[in-house]
Amino acid sequence: MKIKTFLLALVLSLSCTFLYAQKIHVNRVDPPSWWTGMHDPNLQLLVFGPKISETRAVINYPGVRIEQTIHVASPDYLFLDLVIAAKAKPGTFTIHFKKGRKEVATYAYTLNKRVENPKLYQGFNNSDVIYLLMPDRFANGDTTNDNMPGMLEKVNIKNPNGRHGGDIKGIEDHLDYLKNLGVTAIWSTPLMEDNMPVYSYHGYAMTDYYKVDPRFGTNQDYRNLVQEAHKKGLKIIQDMVFNHCGTNYFWKNDLPTPDWYNEWPKFTRSNYHGGVVSDPHASHYDYRHMVAGWFDTSMADLNQDNPLVANYLIQNSIWWIQYAGLDGIRQDTYPYPYKDFMAKWMQRILKEYPHFNVVGETWFSYPATVAYWLENNRNKDGYHSHLTNVFDFPLMYAINKAFNEKPGWDTGLARLYDVLSQDFVYSNPMKLGIFAGNHDSNRIFSSLHENLKSWKMAMAFLMTTRGIPEIYYGTEILMTGEKAKGDGNIRKDFPGGWPGDKMDAFTPQGRTPEQNDAFNYLRTLLNWRKGNKTVQFGKLTHYIVENGVYVYFRSYKGHKVMVMLNNNNSKPVTINMDRFSDDLKGYSKGKFVMTGKIMELQKTMTLPAKSPLILELIR
Ligand code: CA
Repeated sequence: MKIKTFLLALVLSLSCTFLYAQKIHVNRVDPPSWWTGMHDPNLQLLVFGPKISETRAVINYPGVRIEQTIHVASPDYLFLDLVIAAKAKPGTFTIHFKKGRKEVATYAYTLNKRVENPKLYQGFNNSDVIYLLMPDRFANGDTTNDNMPGMLEKVNIKNPNGRHGGDIKGIEDHLDYLKNLGVTAIWSTPLMEDNMPVYSYHGYAMTDYYKVDPRFGTNQDYRNLVQEAHKKGLKIIQDMVFNHCGTNYFWKNDLPTPDWYNEWPKFTRSNYHGGVVSDPHASHYDYRHMVAGWFDTSMADLNQDNPLVANYLIQNSIWWIQYAGLDGIRQDTYPYPYKDFMAKWMQRILKEYPHFNVVGETWFSYPATVAYWLENNRNKDGYHSHLTNVFDFPLMYAINKAFNEKPGWDTGLARLYDVLSQDFVYSNPMKLGIFAGNHDSNRIFSSLHENLKSWKMAMAFLMTTRGIPEIYYGTEILMTGEKAKGDGNIRKDFPGGWPGDKMDAFTPQGRTPEQNDAFNYLRTLLNWRKGNKTVQFGKLTHYIVENGVYVYFRSYKGHKVMVMLNNNNSKPVTINMDRFSDDLKGYSKGKFVMTGKIMELQKTMTLPAKSPLILELIR
């Protein structure tokens, strides 16, 4: 019996030892790599693997120490707070995961060297014009990636809400086109993995914040795109979404903590009323539904009040800036995440990259609500966003109406004047991103009833008033689309972007005469703007709209640009220049920007019907 007991004990002990030493698989560590020489020495790793929480992490690497290990509700996660000392050298080290004295898993983690390059991370500014494109709809440069293993949605070019196959290669192939057009920065809607079964083309339900969607390319392809763009003098702005992630994110069936998402007893949609976040009279009910309600059934509402979620998002943005060499970020649905977290995020970015820019999607009808979100704004509730740039949605609404209307007290071009006259609410109105349309609005040519003259006026205004202009892909070839007809209608494929396309609008031969007229007009305007500091940075002085004519000046270091917009459909208008004598003092001539012709300034000037005139004033 004693021997039997001994054998049993031996077997048990061996099997325990075997179980004890059983290997654990580390599925994932986020961020996937990091850098030495960062201004903030802290790094929090999310480690994901079955029962990883039963282990103890050990790192033996000079300059790197684990300050704290955080256990969460799910046993499949460990959060490691590392401190990376200034003396830490770049290299790959092993994270040892131990049970008792036995090692059950290892993970090789790489620290790269942060290279200080004065040309990188400098942000965008008023010298830039941003080109917004949707990668799935711009150009299909590589048809072999249209369908990829493991990706749920397959290409279906006939479905306006399906994937059409555009990709990073398609963008890279047309960098020269964009450079020639005269834009200086590209904002692509999200390129990260969106492995949702439907509507995945838009990319706003990301299922991996650290991985480019394989149907767009690879992380390395994206990094190459940034480098190629930089060689041509083009900046890259990445679209990020912190409010929500796709419900198919890897953690979907195993959330680290029960409060990882803002959970509700049953699906609860956001009320989309972003204004309640700054509204001094808002009810808590509305506020809670606004920020904690879900944007859509496919988009899980992340709880940035959980510091682990907050760190995950903050580090992700820094990882991309550093990895890809980004020039800026456009942040989606800006008022929807918790605003204190967003301010913390901005401060963290600016700590690492003091000249970097982020532009927020601040979709409001009124300037005051937009202004609330811009850095240095004196908000009465004390909120300071630290957000460097916001989008001027009130001006977008005005542009979409002004050129269609007859002159009136508050209609026609008075709309533009009235919006700009409220600039006193902004800490700095030059920081506004200005645009006539984006991927969620009517295309401007459709808003303007396909009137080319109105379109030229809208473009002339956009490129000469204050702010940082953005144009939506296809604007230059008069693409049409109406939001009321569905998102697909305003997100059509760029003609010529697909093999076999009948027309190639990337080339003059593939454009209609009207498209070439528009393209050449915008190209001339953009390339002039690119070299003109006065129109980029100059002080705006405008005059009340009279007889349907809006006149304004941009002044910069003794240089002046004069802009006259005559919105009268049928009649030329003769204006008396005396009204502008303060601004015209000392100038005798003007050069027409579009033609290069020079004229003597007269007492009166006749403006052709429905047209813009832009003059560089000459002493
Ligand atoms: Ca493709």
